[in-house]
Amino acid sequence: MIMEIRKIGDPILKIKAKKVEKIDEKVKNLVRDMIETMKFSNGVGLAAPQVGESLRIIVVDYEENPIAFINPEILEMDGEVLDYEGCLSVPGVEVPIKRAERIIFKAQDLQGRTKRYKAKGLLARVIQHEVDHLEGILILDRAVGEPTPPEEK
Ligand code: ZN
Repeated sequence: MIMEIRKIGDPILKIKAKKVEKIDEKVKNLVRDMIETMKFSNGVGLAAPQVGESLRIIVVDYEENPIAFINPEILEMDGEVLDYEGCLSVPGVEVPIKRAERIIFKAQDLQGRTKRYKAKGLLARVIQHEVDHLEGILILDRAVGEPTPPEEK
């Protein structure tokens, strides 16, 4: 099911999302809908609060394969890259943001197993962006310059 993406101004985007205690059918269905919604919207990542569920779940497009991370937590950050970033919840602008170049993070998979992952480049940026959503942080909160329409950057 394609879900409605909440836009900036919606209070759910500004609150800290709750930890997932149990990976049940409800969570699995939500993940399925989030992946469908991400693909439909041509996004590279989506966080549960963006579809109206204040839970610590993100999905990202990982080398064409959508993958879900439950209760993700960034453990280490290294390097710094400045680049433009957009967000499905903040339509029509791209914003310059500094992100770590490489990260190590942990998360649970849909079977509840906790794993550690390494990411760099775009994937590292996407993970940092989506984890920000779980903390109620939007791209405009991180901007180090003026937001611009994508075609003007
Ligand atoms: Zn976003």
